[in-house]
Amino acid sequence: MNQQASVQDWVEQLVRPEIRQINAYHVQPAQNMIKLDAMENPYVWPPQMQQAWLERIASLAFNRYPDPNVSLIREPLSRLLNLPEDQQLVFGNGSDELIQIVMMAMSGSQRGVMSVAPTFVMYDMVSRFVGMPYHSVALNEDFTLDVNRFIEAMQQHQPAIVFIAYPNNPTGNAFSRAQVEQIIEQAPGLVVVDEAYNAFAEDSFIGDIERYPNLVVMRTFSKVGLAAFRLGYMVGHQRWMTEFDKIRLPYNINIATQQGVAFALEHYDVLVEQAASLKQQRTELVAALEATGTCEVYPSQANFITLRLKGVSADKVFTGLKQAGVLIKNLSPTGGLLANCLRVTVGSASENKAFMDAFCKQLKQV
Ligand SMILES: *Cc1c(COP(=O)(O)O)cnc(C)c1O
Repeated sequence: MNQQASVQDWVEQLVRPEIRQINAYHVQPAQNMIKLDAMENPYVWPPQMQQAWLERIASLAFNRYPDPNVSLIREPLSRLLNLPEDQQLVFGNGSDELIQIVMMAMSGSQRGVMSVAPTFVMYDMVSRFVGMPYHSVALNEDFTLDVNRFIEAMQQHQPAIVFIAYPNNPTGNAFSRAQVEQIIEQAPGLVVVDEAYNAFAEDSFIGDIERYPNLVVMRTFSKVGLAAFRLGYMVGHQRWMTEFDKIRLPYNINIATQQGVAFALEHYDVLVEQAASLKQQRTELVAALEATGTCEVYPSQANFITLRLKGVSADKVFTGLKQAGVLIKNLSPTGGLLANCLRVTVGSASENKAFMDAFCKQLKQV
């Protein structure tokens, strides 16, 4: 390679082929749309709370690096989770960063990463970034898990890390606890239970960390109304967390995030109330969708609902909704088990009504 070579030549020579092959993660433009595509919480803080927050940030020292230990959140959160002495937290710039940290710590051998399909795309993406082989086991047609097939695949591939999103995205269901326990017990490596949707779910594995030496649990504040702050956390035995913490870049959690999430934890009841309201909205939205008689609505323990249209094209309904100003997620292009499926985030009562009105109108038109 010399200075006469084109930029393209340089890039092709130097950037790994598996990186050049990746399609960048695509975020749909959403200006002025009713935004039900990304599992965001529709509610903002009550006015008094917003005012108190503005007063809080007025006195922050933006010229200084943030606290590398994130103590402002670490202490209240450890109490809230009732963590025993030998368990610790590691914070990430979203749980996406934690997924990256875990994989970076364990890449380098031929042992890879395993999960189910369909699931959260970042497990696959990040495994490519770090050069770990990725294997997945297809879910059943109703999105339940064939645990025996999963265990066989673990025996075959010997993954260093298994990711189980619990509840799963983009399907919304939580696999049975007994099945997840079986996976943890049979896994030849670390099992990461990703509880991004825990606020809307019925169960958690945080209490199981004590009895499983190969289990860590991840969560995020993104789905409970704090998506813009980007804060995820991982809970596990301190021996695991000490190693992961070495890879975390020193000041990965900025001062606005530390203060904002700490402030939100002081008003934890507001977060809990909002999640309760969304669960109620979810129940109503499921009933409304089922009443149309046009789709199979899958059980959800998350703040979104996945459905499969019957006799109507998901692509057409998705495009029609978009034209009507309602943005949801079209899962259909993924194909396979997600053929003709749509995913809608549970919003506020008025957003859900706008969605249902537009949805019913589409059904009449297509
Ligand atoms: C949304 C989501 C995450 C990532 O959340 P962050 O915003 O990066 O904290 C992780 N896992 C699953 C399953 C998700 O759906």
